[in-house]
Amino acid sequence: MHEAEEARQLVASLCAYLEDLQETGIDGLAYAEPAPVTGTVRLNGSDTSPTASVQAAPVEQENLDQVRLDLGECARCSLSGTRTNLVFGIGNPAARLVFVGEAPGRDEDLQGEPFVGEAGQLLTKIISAMQFRRSDVYICNILKCRPPGNRNPQPEEIEQCQPFLLRQLGAVNPEAIVCLGTFAAQTLLQTKEPISKLRGRFHDYHGIPLMPTFHPAFLLRNPAMKREVWEDMQKVMRLLNIELKK
Ligand code: SF4
Repeated sequence: MHEAEEARQLVASLCAYLEDLQETGIDGLAYAEPAPVTGTVRLNGSDTSPTASVQAAPVEQENLDQVRLDLGECARCSLSGTRTNLVFGIGNPAARLVFVGEAPGRDEDLQGEPFVGEAGQLLTKIISAMQFRRSDVYICNILKCRPPGNRNPQPEEIEQCQPFLLRQLGAVNPEAIVCLGTFAAQTLLQTKEPISKLRGRFHDYHGIPLMPTFHPAFLLRNPAMKREVWEDMQKVMRLLNIELKK
C-alpha cells in the first residue's frame, strides 16, 4: 500500500477511535513525552548531540473496572427497561484473545454472564479446542442487554452501547479478536458484507487482528459449518503461536 494511503487510513482510524471515546464521556487522554533520542541526530543538515534526556511519563491505561463503573446501571437505550441483568463481559482482563458476540440471550439475561446457554457451551468447547480455558479469554457482546425475544439489535442500541465495547477492548488490549456472527462482525468492521464473505481472513480493528466467524448459535442449527469455524480458529491459533495438538 502507498505510504500516503496508509497514513490516511491510520488518521481515519484514530479519529474514529477518539470520537467513540468522546461519546463515552472521555474528553482527554494522558500525554507521554516521546522516548529520549540517543546518539547523534541530523538536524537541518548539521550534526547535533541530544541535550537533556526527558523522562517518559507512563500512559495510564484504562481498566475494565473503570469501564464498568462508567456504564453503571445503564439506561442509554430502551433495552434497560426489559433486561433482567446487564451482561458486561467475563474472563481474563489481560486476555490474549477476546470473543465478541451479538447480545445476551435468555440464559445470559437471567445469569448476567455472556455465552452460558447452549450456544455458550459450544463456544466453551471451541475455546478448549484452541487450548484455552474459558477463564483464559475474555468474552463479551456488542450489546450488554437482551433484546426482547432475541430480536436483532437496532442501530440506535448499537450506537449507544458500542463505545463501551470499544473501551473494553482497549482495556484488555488483546493480541486477537474473534467476532461471532454477522452483527458483531458488521458492527466492529463498519461494513454490510455478510459473515460468509468476511470470515476466514483477518481484518484490522484499531491495529488488532480480527477474525470474523460464524456464531455458535448458527452452528447449532448448521453443524456442517463447524469445519469452517475450526479452520478460522486454527488461523487464530497460528497467529498466537499455539501449536495444534495432533
Ligand atoms: S444495551 Fe447497552 S446502551 Fe442499552 S441500556 Fe444496555 S448497556 Fe445501556
